[in-house]
Amino acid sequence: MYRSHTCGELRLQDKGKNVQLAGWVQTVRKYGAITFVDLRDRYGVTQLLFGETINSQLDSNPLGREFVLQVNGTVIERSNKNTQLPTGEVEIDVQSYSILNRAAVPPFTIQDDTDGGDDLRMKYRFLDLRRNPVRQNLELRYAVNRAARNYLHQQNFLDIETPFLIKSTPEGARDFVVPSRMNPGQFYALPQSPQTFKQLLMVSGYDRYYQIVKCFRDEDLRADRQPEFTQIDCEMSFVEQEDILNMFEGLIKHIFQEVKGISYTDPVARMTWEEAMWKFGNDKPDIRFEIPILNLKKPSSVFQDRNDSRNLIEGASFNVFDEAETVLAIAIPGAAEFTRKQTDELTEWVKRPQIGMKGLATIRYNADGTCKSSIDKFYDQEKIKAIAVAASAHPGDLVLILAGAEERTRKAISELRLEMGERLGLRKPNEYKLLWVLDFPLFEYDEEGNRWVARHHPFTAPKPAQIKTMIENNPKIEDAANYLQHPYASIKANAYDMVLNGNEIGGGSIRIFQRELQEKMFEALGMSSEEQQHKFGFLLGAFEYGAPPHGGIAFGFDRLCALLGGSESIRDFIAFPKNNAGRDVMLDAPATIDEIQLKELQIRTDVKNA
Ligand code: ASP
Repeated sequence: MYRSHTCGELRLQDKGKNVQLAGWVQTVRKYGAITFVDLRDRYGVTQLLFGETINSQLDSNPLGREFVLQVNGTVIERSNKNTQLPTGEVEIDVQSYSILNRAAVPPFTIQDDTDGGDDLRMKYRFLDLRRNPVRQNLELRYAVNRAARNYLHQQNFLDIETPFLIKSTPEGARDFVVPSRMNPGQFYALPQSPQTFKQLLMVSGYDRYYQIVKCFRDEDLRADRQPEFTQIDCEMSFVEQEDILNMFEGLIKHIFQEVKGISYTDPVARMTWEEAMWKFGNDKPDIRFEIPILNLKKPSSVFQDRNDSRNLIEGASFNVFDEAETVLAIAIPGAAEFTRKQTDELTEWVKRPQIGMKGLATIRYNADGTCKSSIDKFYDQEKIKAIAVAASAHPGDLVLILAGAEERTRKAISELRLEMGERLGLRKPNEYKLLWVLDFPLFEYDEEGNRWVARHHPFTAPKPAQIKTMIENNPKIEDAANYLQHPYASIKANAYDMVLNGNEIGGGSIRIFQRELQEKMFEALGMSSEEQQHKFGFLLGAFEYGAPPHGGIAFGFDRLCALLGGSESIRDFIAFPKNNAGRDVMLDAPATIDEIQLKELQIRTDVKNA
């Protein structure tokens, strides 16, 4: 027997017990004739005391950091108690020990705050995983996993595995492909998600499916994406949008309760995509704080409920505003006190290449009702004040205004809004605000190809009331400049995203389940009948054999865990993640393969083996 207890287990009431512990040497502290060792395992740390008799044995055979050690000894009360440690009232008076394995000096310290940089930590991930913060992240991940499974099990969902070696499932990314030795020249694709399989399971009558499953997408890795990631993937039959929203609101609330002890009793807020874009500049607004975006050029909107709908900014010979496609403003509460230096710094902030604006106009709406603005030259006091009010500012606020091309400016002001929220401490780490974003457009316009692309994926159904518009109109875009006038531009999807504190944590849709509509969808996306048959013949065929109405959703499991763990980075919640270049630096993968393997696969590459 290696151990009678773990390193996190012993307390004062165990005093006098003879115990065996095993673990890793965290630290060795020598004081003259005695030595203290902190012994660590997954469960905690226990202090060992090598007293005078046994200490001399250590001199000839010293212990080092991360040695694997087993000891036999008696639990005694510590004279110098450590209240920070659950085992801090006791120590083990070591009677005998054995070094089970030695360890080289680790390349970084195995402590909560390590001195190891990212690359080093990833290269020696097995050592990094010994650190408490990383271990706690993985424990949290398991807790989320368990909570999700419990809830879904109670709701009658079946966990059904689906294959990894498949044919392409388009979800908007590139496929990873796997060559087939038995079918030379042919390739499997790794699933971007189990989308079509879960739909087929509905056709098969399984009614409620889920899987906590790996998905693979060959994307250029923007910050915090992984080429393989995990989803809580779900599908249900005989459901409408409302059924799905209720079911999965329940799932997330259950996870909050189980994992964080938080009772999220409010119904999850809902917002249409259009409102989210108008008021917050993106489709995943952080609603922990208000600060809506106001459009100064197009003041009349259902989302901008202002009495004064005059266009206040044009006609003052201020070319920047006159010529801009859009002029957007936010009012920052209580920020009129910002110094010139602070507003100058904000101007530099919006000029950074990531934000890409040419400048920033500001209006200080002082507490005494006067205004001071960077555009005083062009507008009189009264006008400036009217603009501030139009931007929904109150005395004491600072108005920030950006002008430029629609898309870029909207994106920029949305970033600025988040930045200000961050700076003012309005994005509180312990506050969780969930939001459903609804009524997405079904299609997006792809300028390059002058064609429609599916905003979610090609299996998403339009709103029932708009099926007719879709069927009856020709998807072809005759007039590229006015694509927005095409009937397809206004079709809304029966799709929904769940957003947590400004992060999309899940998304899904009610699916198309009739062959004709699915064919129409494929046609709209520019697929010929042959192509449809070649790529999706199996699904179209299945729809002919009694496909029930169905819909589903998938949650980004890694991201959900990271957010619940209070981190922005999903990498910290994955045991063996890849770096930004998609590499596993520990395995040094991807790597070239042997000539023999290539030959078997009948593959020739232009790249020579290193
Ligand atoms: N398959 C979709 C995705 O991965 C989710 C869904 O529609 O259920 O985003």
